[in-house]
Amino acid sequence: MEISAKFGILFYMTFVEALKTLPVENLVEKSLNSSAKEVEESLRKPTLSLVDFARLISPVANGYLEKMANLARSLTLRRFGKVVRLFAPLYVSNECVNNCKYCGFSRDNNVLRVTLTIDEVLQEARELKRQGFRSILLVAGEHPKFVSTAYLEECVKAVHSEVPSVSLEIGRLTVDEYRRLVKAGAEGLVLYQETYNPKLYAQLHLSGPKRHFENRLETQDRAYLGGFRRLGIGALYGLGDWRYEAICVAAHANHLLKNCWKSYITISIPRLRPCAGLFNPPVTLTDTELVQLVCAYRIMLPDVGLVLSTREPSYLRDGLLPLGITLISAGSHTEPGGYTGAGKEKLHKTRGAMIFDESVTPNAAAEHQFQIADTRSVKEVVETIQRLGYEPVWKDWDATFSA
Ligand code: SF4
Repeated sequence: MEISAKFGILFYMTFVEALKTLPVENLVEKSLNSSAKEVEESLRKPTLSLVDFARLISPVANGYLEKMANLARSLTLRRFGKVVRLFAPLYVSNECVNNCKYCGFSRDNNVLRVTLTIDEVLQEARELKRQGFRSILLVAGEHPKFVSTAYLEECVKAVHSEVPSVSLEIGRLTVDEYRRLVKAGAEGLVLYQETYNPKLYAQLHLSGPKRHFENRLETQDRAYLGGFRRLGIGALYGLGDWRYEAICVAAHANHLLKNCWKSYITISIPRLRPCAGLFNPPVTLTDTELVQLVCAYRIMLPDVGLVLSTREPSYLRDGLLPLGITLISAGSHTEPGGYTGAGKEKLHKTRGAMIFDESVTPNAAAEHQFQIADTRSVKEVVETIQRLGYEPVWKDWDATFSA
């Protein structure tokens, strides 16, 4: 097994192997040709297979949305109660050596960049803590020079001294590097495969280490070995056929539930948003299809956390809460220094590892990764959650639990 020699020992088939044997195209075909009778049959089952999931995301299942929503609502209530967990992304760097066609931080985008110092990261974390957050997701582009493992370790230690729950959304690392980050205080790792279609993946990832499809696909298996207690996955909707991606995500979640059973699994459902580089999404996951997908995930995977970020507009986020969303961000910034202006005086433009332009105009800000759609303040989001009859949860974990 490729992973064992280089990164540690795994005694099971990684998702790389599992995906090779998954008849994804066949399942998409089944989905497109599902009948009403088949959808009804799948909705009656207590435990769903991937074929059932394919039926629930079929065009014909769209006519069963009310029934699916009722089922998803009751399963969410039973498993999670009326609570929603809140987190905030904290971007520490927008430097990146990868060329991903759809991302504002892509190496060839001529944008303002910065990597925050540890003190600046702390400044941002303290502002988020002041707003109420106790769960912070540290986000960074992939850049060995600016965003080294040692730097990330220091970021985690600093933020963990302020809040109990620190997760990471960073480039892929080795098992040993993940162990270091867990030891520093990180508890979760979020990593989107973006697309599970290897051909499309090659077309979208033009250069940089992220081009390696299988290495990325194996990441959560490595992260589990590294000791993370929360593992987050997802596809970026808008890149390719959404049913193909959704089926792969469901299969990936099943794989992690079975093999990485000590960790809590979450699925994010991000749709592409406008960003620098002006990538035009080739396909659309409509609002109605997004609702159908959230319901299908909840019915198929009743214990998995579902995450919806500020990429989505407020009306949709509020409407989807009762149907299965258990984790949301609020008041988010997707650029380093976004909460306090930290790092502004160091803005520059980078090509590869070289800084080539430091002529920054006053009031300039670091490039954001994408535009957010829900621009409400944290206070407004919290008030809405309460008005809907839900309890906002800032903290559900403390390291002393595992001592
Ligand atoms: S998606 Fe991630 S790896 Fe790709 S350019 Fe953006 S920050 Fe870099």
